[in-house]
Amino acid sequence: MSETITKSISDFFGEDVFNDAVMQARLPKKVYNALKKTMDEGKELDMATADVVANAMKDWAIEKGATHYTHWFQPLTGITAEKHDSFISPAKKDGKVLMEFSGKELVKGEPDASSFPSGGLRATFEARGYTAWDCTSPAFIRHDAAGAILCIPTAFCSYTGEALDAKTPLLRSMEALNTQALRLLKLFGNTTATHVTTSVGAEQEYFLVDRSKFLQRKDLIYTGHTLFGAMPPKGQELEDQYFGSIRERVGAFMKVVNEELWKLGVCAKTQHNEVAPSQHELAPIYSETNVAVDQNQLMMETMKKVAERQGLMCLLHEKPFAGVNGSGKHDNWSIISNDGINLLDPGKKPHENLLFQLVLVCLLKAIDDHADLLRESAATVGNDYRLGANEAPPAVLSVFLGEQIQDILDQIIASGNATSTKQSELLKTGVATLPDFKKDATDRNRTSPFAFTGNKFEFRMVGSSASIAEPNTVLNTITAEAFCEACDELEKADDFDAALKSLLKRYATEHQRIVFNGNGYSDEWIDEAAKRGLPNLKTMVDSIPSLTTEKAKKMFEKFGVFTAKELESRAEIKYEDYAKEVNIEARTMIDMASKSLIPSCVKYTKSLADTVIALKEAGADYSLAKENLDEVVSLVTSAKAALKALIADTDKAAALEAGLDQAAFYRDIIKNDMAALRAPIDTLEMIVDKDYWPMPSYGDLLFEV
Ligand code: ADP
Ligand code: MG
Repeated sequence: MSETITKSISDFFGEDVFNDAVMQARLPKKVYNALKKTMDEGKELDMATADVVANAMKDWAIEKGATHYTHWFQPLTGITAEKHDSFISPAKKDGKVLMEFSGKELVKGEPDASSFPSGGLRATFEARGYTAWDCTSPAFIRHDAAGAILCIPTAFCSYTGEALDAKTPLLRSMEALNTQALRLLKLFGNTTATHVTTSVGAEQEYFLVDRSKFLQRKDLIYTGHTLFGAMPPKGQELEDQYFGSIRERVGAFMKVVNEELWKLGVCAKTQHNEVAPSQHELAPIYSETNVAVDQNQLMMETMKKVAERQGLMCLLHEKPFAGVNGSGKHDNWSIISNDGINLLDPGKKPHENLLFQLVLVCLLKAIDDHADLLRESAATVGNDYRLGANEAPPAVLSVFLGEQIQDILDQIIASGNATSTKQSELLKTGVATLPDFKKDATDRNRTSPFAFTGNKFEFRMVGSSASIAEPNTVLNTITAEAFCEACDELEKADDFDAALKSLLKRYATEHQRIVFNGNGYSDEWIDEAAKRGLPNLKTMVDSIPSLTTEKAKKMFEKFGVFTAKELESRAEIKYEDYAKEVNIEARTMIDMASKSLIPSCVKYTKSLADTVIALKEAGADYSLAKENLDEVVSLVTSAKAALKALIADTDKAAALEAGLDQAAFYRDIIKNDMAALRAPIDTLEMIVDKDYWPMPSYGDLLFEV
């Protein structure tokens, strides 16, 4: 039994985090105040303060059993990176060691960074990269087989200050939004807010499979998802998995994950079974965006580690299995000031809430102007298997507002002025003993990529394996731009009310095309979206150019989030990533088909042929056996031909120069070749004797966890 079972959550919540309470208890008041100023107001931190903080952090960590520290950072690999250093330093005299950790070591690290993606920002001979302490996200101690490690969240930059990570631009975008949102609040007479931040709650979907079965599949090992596999007799059609009761083995996993996350200060809150068999979800309570980004990484790492310890594997890939739902990560996003205003909260009477109306039309403008960028921010190789495939949002971006807010928007479009609010009704159950309660003002729309959900927007395109840093960087920046343009106009106005009314009407009218409240999965919507001129960027490769348009460069440079050079480098990295990942998938298929699947089928044909011969010799009817044999031989022949084509094209692709053309070749040629190889093999799986099939089937993986 775990030791925590007798304790209540509040006894151990955050015990491995160097949080505010620990800082207050362990830092001299002056130092604490100086650090708080840096954290809350972005004031620079002096070295003397850093030294004291480092020492307190070290003592705290050592008491908790830590032997090492690491600058924990998020290079452009989508996951986190770390290099451990122990605290020891040799004592001068007695041959013993001291435990040391200086302010300099806390604030700055220098991983030899030449092997991280930099997209040409740094050649390998210029390997210097620095990690810089992000004191706004708390340090924590991670316990695992490596012992206890003090992890210090950091940003990662090159020698010349270019961002090499996901965190730096995110922090820059948060600053940009803060500045512009404060201007906006001021316009409405607010004098109390001094800081505005975006808050994010990321709902994480995942699959759990048995580890011993996972290890029998090269596709899962090398790519995190299946590249072959026939549908089992049962999929998700009964809808009996969604919110179904949680199986014991899965429950035991969730319990330990929750406890570990709580210790790390992550407010793991909601867990349930998802739509597909063996699919589940975990959502934390929302927090400031940079903290949410870190915590989402911690969630993913913790889920993977705990699963392995329990003989399971946690699949975070967007599409582990064809034919059943894939996994996403709903990014719930809102804008909140430090005097307690949620700018996305319409209140009870949105028709009187002009601040909300302005924020709303600015957001519509932001998303309409930069739909391509937002789409790009959710693009991963894995997500290409999911977006637009009738289970996840389509690849076309649109905004769902729901009845109540749509009505406000309609009124603004009609007259610049909303005068009434549609109120929600009582839910009548028709059963006297059940309580009647007030419904939400709007129903949900599960098909929308960007849905208003009461006091926040939910961006649903993000893939389950991806960092949420980039989507939020884009969201923050496009919103900052729209706020900035609105403020530029309104600050100058002699008659504020008239100027506001006219701006509301203009923005709402010009950008209403981005609003869509209907079924996002329907073909009619895709046609309608095309008529409205909304971009439909079907694949990751299609979306990457959005990063380097003049429009994107101008905006990101204006708000100091990315330089043009950083954008170019990121596009380059993404083309390469795409090519490399699809190449690994193709080579995995080649490996599996050549060395395992086709040979197994050939063995099976031998047994069928033996049967035919035996029946023939016995003078019995062998027509059925012969028919089976012919069918298998014909499918194996197709598979062989498809395999040959895939091998030849993969060699061609690898010889191309990295960049758009190479990525496009993988998208257009290699992906097709892969599908052509998969088809006959999946058919074979359904007719070959199971004893001959060399790996666990979808049914084994999905239903026998
Ligand atoms: P829904 O049922 O609409 O999906 P939930 O209450 O389940 O909403 O919340 C989903 C996620 O959204 C959770 O992580 C939650 O903490 C987060 N969330 C709730 N309110 C906000 C907010 N104002 N800003 C950002 N995230 C929020
Ligand atoms: Mg949700």
